[in-house]
Amino acid sequence: MSNATPARVRFAPSPTGYLHIGGARTALYNYLLAKQTGGQFILLIEDTDQARFVPDAVEEQKNSLRWLGIVWDEGPDVGGSYGPYVQSQRAEIHRQHAEQLIEEGKAYYCFCTKERLDAVRREQQILKNQTRYDGHCRDIPLDEAKKRKANGESCVIRFKVPLDGKTTVRDDIRGDITVENSTMDDFIILKTDGTSLYHLAAMVDDHLMGITHVIRGSEWLSSLPRHSLIIRAFNWQEPKWVHLSVFLKPSGKGKMSKRESADMKAEEGHSIFVRDMEELGYLPEAVLNWIVLMGWSLDDKTDQLSLEEMVDGFTLDRLNPSAAAVNFDKLDHFNGVHIRKLAPESFVKRIKPFFDRAGINASEERLRHIAPLLQERVTTLDESVDLAAFFFRDNVTYDAAQLIPKGMTASAALAAMQKTRALFESLNNLNHPTTEPPMRKLAEELQLKPGQLFGILRIAITGQQVSPPLFQTIELLDRQTVFERIEQAEK
Ligand code: GLU
Repeated sequence: MSNATPARVRFAPSPTGYLHIGGARTALYNYLLAKQTGGQFILLIEDTDQARFVPDAVEEQKNSLRWLGIVWDEGPDVGGSYGPYVQSQRAEIHRQHAEQLIEEGKAYYCFCTKERLDAVRREQQILKNQTRYDGHCRDIPLDEAKKRKANGESCVIRFKVPLDGKTTVRDDIRGDITVENSTMDDFIILKTDGTSLYHLAAMVDDHLMGITHVIRGSEWLSSLPRHSLIIRAFNWQEPKWVHLSVFLKPSGKGKMSKRESADMKAEEGHSIFVRDMEELGYLPEAVLNWIVLMGWSLDDKTDQLSLEEMVDGFTLDRLNPSAAAVNFDKLDHFNGVHIRKLAPESFVKRIKPFFDRAGINASEERLRHIAPLLQERVTTLDESVDLAAFFFRDNVTYDAAQLIPKGMTASAALAAMQKTRALFESLNNLNHPTTEPPMRKLAEELQLKPGQLFGILRIAITGQQVSPPLFQTIELLDRQTVFERIEQAEK
């Protein structure tokens, strides 16, 4: 653990969709900072925008975080002393804070109707001016406004943005960001129904939860000056702001969108959604390793990191704000690396569900024997099924033409299989060291390349062009099955 002050950080997803790699990375960096400094990682569900809800989004987001091993110290399900951790349940707190700004003259009731606002906007458009609220209600005396409100007139609460001057906010990795106050209009913080808008709700919640660092997506950069103005209006201490890099499409052209992901999953077995990744055969260890490096580095050389190593080495000053292209080849690379690193027993446990899902009854005991052949060569866990299903099937099926390698006749292939069977019959076991040397000799005698002879045998035994190493495979099958499959091939 570092000597830094313990950070209180939060991941604040809106339940408008499933967790994608951008959100997962944001959650991860927050989590790492909390763990690195001995602080707390908080999960806060920001559900103020009820219109765009996806019903199972909250559950799915939580499942995805858990699958990655990003566990929250406070939040839904686990509680904590700063709850509730669902923003919509904090509406009364937000409303009270909006009223406080009213009393202090930092916000005001606005009675403008939709018709008036539309008319103002149309005029601004005709004059080619920036469209913005014109401050019509800004100077209504408070007691008069209160009377109108008490009489039932519908109103919102708007924040009073200073009319001139500038607002400068410091982003920890991007430096100072300055905007002219005249470019911001008096934005709404409380709606007519008394519920808060995101900008106010988020700042109030962060403050009351003691958040020290806000690490979030760069799409929030444009809101930053408004967020800062709200905090300053309350005379609260500002958190440290960190706006992360954007993700670009694999081509490097344009921002990554969620919609493209669906096609990608079908076409190339890739997805930007965490919940798909498990199904596609990725390890959480690999996904974490992949995303942590899309915007951060430990040093100039380390590229393989476990979650513990990330926690140990994480610092904000190595975050990089430049846009990064999503590279799925790297994910595949890391997945291979982390699969090789798994303890054999853990690998077996992780491939088992893929056999179950494919309807193949593979016992853990049997898988334990086969697993070493798979663990050293698969890129994704689901490939284990493609490679090894033949171990569990009663029969293998293939097109008879596949048994005849290029440049060979059917009768030559048949002769080769018959000789192979005779050879195997003469051996008292079919272990790899027993079978391979005489098979190489047989290939020579038949004037075949080893690849030709082995290719025929591979199809006969596995029904596949690609399989785990042939002689090790034969060793793992029972003797009877080997002979049955060779005979089947001869036929
Ligand atoms: N609820 C926001 C989102 O889903 C989070 C913004 C923030 O972290 O401040 O992107």
